[in-house]
Amino acid sequence: MEMHFEEDFYREIIDSLNDGLYIVDKDRVIRFWNKAAERITGFAAWEVLGTPCSKDILMHVDEEGNDLCRGMCPLALAMATGKNRDAEVYLHHKKGHRVPVWVRAGALRNSEGEVVGAVELFSDMTSIEANRLRLMELERLAMLDALTGLPNRRYMEHEIKTRIEERKRLKVPFGVLFMDIDHFKSFNDTHGHEVGDEVLKMLSNTLINNSRPFDVFGRWGGEEFLGVIRNVDQTELSKVAERIRVLVEKSFIVHEGKRLRATISIGATLFQDEDTMESVIKRADDLLYESKRSGRNRVTVG
Ligand code: GH3
Ligand code: MG
Ligand code: MG
Repeated sequence: MEMHFEEDFYREIIDSLNDGLYIVDKDRVIRFWNKAAERITGFAAWEVLGTPCSKDILMHVDEEGNDLCRGMCPLALAMATGKNRDAEVYLHHKKGHRVPVWVRAGALRNSEGEVVGAVELFSDMTSIEANRLRLMELERLAMLDALTGLPNRRYMEHEIKTRIEERKRLKVPFGVLFMDIDHFKSFNDTHGHEVGDEVLKMLSNTLINNSRPFDVFGRWGGEEFLGVIRNVDQTELSKVAERIRVLVEKSFIVHEGKRLRATISIGATLFQDEDTMESVIKRADDLLYESKRSGRNRVTVG
């Protein structure tokens, strides 16, 4: 099979994926193996390239322990049917243990449309699972906001208390962002409350998708949001706030063919020695008010 990966550009992109990715030819001989595949399986590219994937490498099994490489392998099925195949399987790690992965296999075709191989993308379920469990736990404890899927006010209070303890014991600094949508009442009046709700969801997705794993954003109430930003000094906190402000400004929903946007004003402040949960939130709220007073769609740090 002809398969060119000499273009560093694509290789770099594929290597930077969090998901494992490998490519096999028609005989299921491994032709490409990315960095995440090395990390998830323990096998380096040089150990697997040129080897049939059935040859005691990944030895995919399903929940019942069925050996998929001998029969219903997702790659073989994708090549036979030309359709993508999804499966939850357990692969063999070089060290011997089994790793749960979510697999998506798809056929690769040449310019004539003939199937010449297949690609398999696999995600490490251990982290997916951990995240899912964390969300389920929050749901169970009634700490998720129903509309936006963000942590709710109760959770954010809990989060701040945890950060205060952490700061006391381990000297990890943290800051608070208080955010409020600008002129949201008139947005609702113009477009309706339901469209307003869509904006709240869109904004929440912007917050979720652009936060670092150790930062938490939650819905404080109505159209007010709180961010707890960990391990930052004042300059970094103001950069995080400014980035969020810009990303919200650049996001939009499409309603009746029109792009609708919202902007937010932000108050940002670091937790100080003499602070309590109430005082740091109050200061962030006051700084937010300052942003509103001086024109909205801006960040005030203090
Ligand atoms: P500004 O903050 O810029 O001073 O003006 P504003 O119009 O946004 O004023 P304020 O923050 O006091 O407005 C709150 C408005 O947010 C009132 C209400 O219409 C809207 N709102 C609050 N919660 C929700 C919600 O869950 N869904 C929708 N659609 N709107 C909400
Ligand atoms: Mg408000
Ligand atoms: Mg508002």
